[in-house]
Amino acid sequence: MKTAGIIGGMSFESTIEYYRILNEMVNEKLGGLHSAKILMESYDFDVIAFHQKTGDWQKLGTILANSAKKLETAGADCIAIATNTMHNVAREVQNSINIPLIHIADATAYDVKERGFEVLLLIGTKYTMKESFYVKKLAGEYGLKVIVPNDDEMDVIHNIIFDELCIGNIFDESRMKILKIIEKYKSFGAECVVLGCTELPNIIKEASVPVINTVHSHCKAIIKEII
Ligand code: GLU
Repeated sequence: MKTAGIIGGMSFESTIEYYRILNEMVNEKLGGLHSAKILMESYDFDVIAFHQKTGDWQKLGTILANSAKKLETAGADCIAIATNTMHNVAREVQNSINIPLIHIADATAYDVKERGFEVLLLIGTKYTMKESFYVKKLAGEYGLKVIVPNDDEMDVIHNIIFDELCIGNIFDESRMKILKIIEKYKSFGAECVVLGCTELPNIIKEASVPVINTVHSHCKAIIKEII
């Protein structure tokens, strides 16, 4: 088995899930007492969120690229960034290392297509829904039709992620708000919903359309690489 290098802590609530799912997937494949070989760099998320807010993506690119290099030097055979949002700096990270970066949007697009969907609703942080890095990949590289919520709905989802989910607060009221948004876009033609934020699977387990869990898709792709 190869070693996965995980850049995490964004937030720790979802990195815990990566750790659990990767180990479970390895054990399911190899049986016995087998578990995943993982190296991890986990941040103080307050610092990362601050730079996201001020739009300093260059700084964030440098921070993540340094971690990727560190993990490569320590023996990682591939790198995975355990958040959708931070794939805004995926290119900088890949350019700084000689091992593959397993991109979460590639893994997600693969699952969307495998399940036969062409039109998806993308929900996540405002950065993921609004900036072009994620939508361009799904639409431009994979030919998927991507619907995103309107500005007010984006605010609702973004605030639930940062004010509640990233610190482990799961509220029914917030779940209902997100489910209502999903329901609306089902009537606009969305065939599935992509939970394009790694904390969203902690609150949304099912919806009125099939759910694509990006943590699960990403972990599957990481496992394919290391086993
Ligand atoms: N984990 C979240 C994501 O998948 C949001 C936290 C972040 O801004 O990195 O986008």
